Amino acid sequence: MTNSKDDNNNTTKNSESTPQKTPHPFDPHTLMWMMMIFAVYSIFSSISGSKTPEISYTDFKKAVISNQVSSISFRGDQIYGIYSDEGVDKPKIFHTVIPSTPDTELLPLLEIKGVNISAKSSADPPWLTILVGIVPWLLILAFFLYSSRMLQQRLGGGGKDGFMGISKSKAKLFETKDNEIGYDDVAGVEGAKQDLQEIIDYLKTPEEFQKLGARMPRGILLMGPPGTGKTMLAKATAHEAGVPFFSISGSEFIEMFVGIGASRVRDLFKEARAKAPALIFVDEIDSVGRVRGTGLGGGNDEREQTLNQILAEMDGFSVDEAVVVLAATNRPDVLDPALLRPGRFDRKVTLELPLQNARIEILKVHTRKVPIALDFDYKELASMTVGFSGADLANLVNEAALSAARKKADIVTKDDFNQAHDKIIMGSERKDLLNPSERKRTAVHESGHAIAALFLPNSDPLRQVSIIPRGRALGVTEQLPAEDRHNYTQSYLETRLSVMLGGRVGEKIVLDDTSSGASNDLEQATHLAKMMVTQWGMSDAIGPIHFKVGSEHPFLGYEIQQEKDFSEETATKIDQEIHRIIKEAEKTTFAILLDHREDLDQLVEELLNKETLDIYMIEEILKHKD
Ligand code: ADP
Ligand code: ZN
Repeated sequence: MTNSKDDNNNTTKNSESTPQKTPHPFDPHTLMWMMMIFAVYSIFSSISGSKTPEISYTDFKKAVISNQVSSISFRGDQIYGIYSDEGVDKPKIFHTVIPSTPDTELLPLLEIKGVNISAKSSADPPWLTILVGIVPWLLILAFFLYSSRMLQQRLGGGGKDGFMGISKSKAKLFETKDNEIGYDDVAGVEGAKQDLQEIIDYLKTPEEFQKLGARMPRGILLMGPPGTGKTMLAKATAHEAGVPFFSISGSEFIEMFVGIGASRVRDLFKEARAKAPALIFVDEIDSVGRVRGTGLGGGNDEREQTLNQILAEMDGFSVDEAVVVLAATNRPDVLDPALLRPGRFDRKVTLELPLQNARIEILKVHTRKVPIALDFDYKELASMTVGFSGADLANLVNEAALSAARKKADIVTKDDFNQAHDKIIMGSERKDLLNPSERKRTAVHESGHAIAALFLPNSDPLRQVSIIPRGRALGVTEQLPAEDRHNYTQSYLETRLSVMLGGRVGEKIVLDDTSSGASNDLEQATHLAKMMVTQWGMSDAIGPIHFKVGSEHPFLGYEIQQEKDFSEETATKIDQEIHRIIKEAEKTTFAILLDHREDLDQLVEELLNKETLDIYMIEEILKHKD
């Protein structure tokens, strides 16, 4: 997608999706225990602790002397009493403690004052007193015993099953009957399905293969960007083969204590063997399977032990154990080579972001249960969604359905899909308004991008321009690639640079000033120019040489981690070339915008009126200019 957002908004999708689970010191069990203790303690203290306010013995006697007490009751070493009349801020009842040396004056005094006297043996029954005193302590003791035992179990790497199952595998198990996702539901990945067909046959009838002494692959690596259906495909493979499906994420192996991961692996494979033929799916294998000992991403013992255990388990499969492991990653580049050796994950199945036809298929799968209006065109939507993953498409359909539901419609229309599309790629519209001068500047900026995109040769077609703030962007100019591109020509990239700079150049021409709103454009442009020079050999001064630079792939969006492999002298030259390429692109932009100055002004005016213009409206406007 080549939509340029402004304001410091980063459009590159971050495909690093290996969330590190931070283990917290209190697991749910511990918390539950603590809450229980607290609850019990407060119940007991509310039974025992009386609600009647306590007063001092002296105050009590003063009250009796001044005729304020109507009746009292002796209970053990306490006196409970009722005042003869309630004051505004005085409670009706009270209690006080009798001093340990007997007060011989009290009884006669009470009699003289005509206070009604009664007596009970003790404040609380004795069993309650004992209970109240002891139970909380017992509970606290039990809690300490419990937690120290748990800690021991954790550090010991788990006894039988580990206390509270801490070393249990945590894998989710889908029995055959619960797994309803089949190959019908995974669309547009025909190649991958074919690659996995052999595994299905094997899991269906392992005996046939064992009879012939064939050695089946034990591990298959599913590689591809997030959301391309790796998990889904693994699950569907288990479904097609009719075998149980164990699913776990690499990050779930890792816990606070060393040794847990390894024992979880052991447990998982034990369970799967017991149910063989079976399929194990390990998502995010890179979170345990990174190159060992590099310190990349922590490089801790726990991860290495877990990885070693996985390798040991896979080596330990005997021929008659039909267990296949599918592992998914979007970072094949960081995997430990030991994982990829024969007998381990020696087969690779690659999933790519879906192309036009695959997107149509995926959209069809996800709209099976959605009532769609007749004006809806799969092909059109598919061409608007270049670069979307399967998950993005599923999300798009869902957003469209939600948008229709909000309107209480019975049917999902093309308009709903368009709105969902805009929301996904540009973020939700923001309600806060720009002040008039900001609004004008945004209109100029976006028109600059738009005019450059419209009139430069080789540019991706314009789809729409908008000055409605969305997400963190103040405005958006959206272009649609006419086709899926795998390859970028130099002239295409140069045009792209010029379009990226269009916003800033527009501001400079119309407002004779630039603003910070262009910073994201500049970041993208600089990055692209750097790639052109260092990776794609598009600078004559430097020549067709590939340099290692730590940077992000501008379109795939993932980080390439590399050591710098060139001299300072070359670095200076690279910087000069990046500078030159950008300056040249800027020159082109100036030329095209000055050439179309009238169009630019016209577009600014209409944008300020209508806020959003699609390509048809833009063509109308520019045709009708005087
Ligand atoms: P990954 O494991 O590669 O990150 P998932 O398998 O979790 O991706 O996909 C997430 C969701 O995206 C799926 O539940 C499904 O709804 C949708 N999806 C992804 N790829 C496809 C596809 N090829 N066909 C149909 N739906 C897909
Ligand atoms: Zn911009």
